[in-house]
Parts: sequence; C-alpha cells; structure tokens
Amino acid sequence: NDATRDLREMVRAIPDYPKTGIIFRDVTTLFGNAEGLARTVDAIADHVAGHGIDLIAGIDARGFILGGALAVRMRKGFVPIRKRGKLPADVYREEYSLEYGTDEVEIHKDAVPAGGATVLLVDDLIATGGTAIAAARLIQRAGGTVPMAAFAIDLPELGGARKLAGIGIDSYAVMS
Ligand code: IMP
Repeated sequence: NDATRDLREMVRAIPDYPKTGIIFRDVTTLFGNAEGLARTVDAIADHVAGHGIDLIAGIDARGFILGGALAVRMRKGFVPIRKRGKLPADVYREEYSLEYGTDEVEIHKDAVPAGGATVLLVDDLIATGGTAIAAARLIQRAGGTVPMAAFAIDLPELGGARKLAGIGIDSYAVMS
C-alpha cells in the first residue's frame, strides 16, 4: 500500500551481493532516513501493542538497531542474540544451516528473568527463517516464550514466515 511504498523505496537493492545472483536488501538507507527508521519502528510497535510483550530480543547485528529503538519506544529491556564468541557470560548456543555451511548464535543463559517472560524477537529481514528459528530456540532454552517475531522486511518466497508459523510463532513484517 501507499504507506509502505515510501518505506520500500528507502531500501536499497544491491545486485550480486554477497554473491552473484543474490539481490541484497540494504537497510542502511532505510535506517539512515529519520522517517524511515521511525515509521518502521512505529509500525512494529503498533502491531505488537496489547500482546503482553515483556522483553525485546534482537539478532546480531541489524536486529540490534531495530530492536534497540523498539525497546526504548515500548519501555522494555533489550536482549542481544549474538554470533558465536561475542557474549562474555555463560551462554546457550544453537547451530543453523546456511546455503553453504553453518552458523552459530548465542544468548546469555540468564537473559530471561527467573519466572519467564514473553519475548518479541526482532531482526531486519527474514529470508529462509533459519536464523530466526535458531534465535527463538535460544530464547525458549533461556526460559522465555516467543509468541511473535517482527521484521522490517520479509522475503516470502523463501518461506521463513511459514516456517515460524509451523513452530507457533506469528511473524509480522513492515514490508515484503
Ligand atoms: P534467513 O536465516 O535465511 O532467514 O536469513 C536472515 C538473516 O540473514 C537475517 O539475520 C538477515 O539480517 C540476513 N539477511 C539475509 N538476506 C539479507 C538481505 O538481503 N539484506 C539484509 N540482511 C539479510
């Protein structure tokens, strides 16, 4: 629609990055625009309002930008889900498959307060969903429930949102 068309135009498409044949969605141009960043964060905040979110978890590294801004706006704490080896205290780790090879993400074991929390998972973009599913597992292992995940961009042809739905996570994207 009209409201998201403006935002879509702020995302820069980079052909053949990081490899030939891939069109990379570059969100630095969206986040670098005052309206682009604020309206993206507002759209997510509006969508998740009233769902009892206690805590925001963002995925390394562009999920920190959106998730951090959203956490301040919603007045919730922020938990980082990082690539292997970056977090200083005890961690849980999940491995997931990429097109070639695997990657690993970690969360601090005590990232979710005792007694549990309802956590909103945030990243810039969902493609195959592999990263988001590994992140959701980490939050669950740390004692959180993850009813929803939010993204600036969904690439629906890659099936990530469907995969999240399959494990009971409702996903929302500002644009697709
Ligand atoms: P997935 O695991 O296949 O869903 O890939 C999503 C992860 O890769 C997210 O952490 C994204 O930040 C990153 N990613 C994949 N494709 C793009 C892109 O075109 N632009 C920005 N990030 C991307």
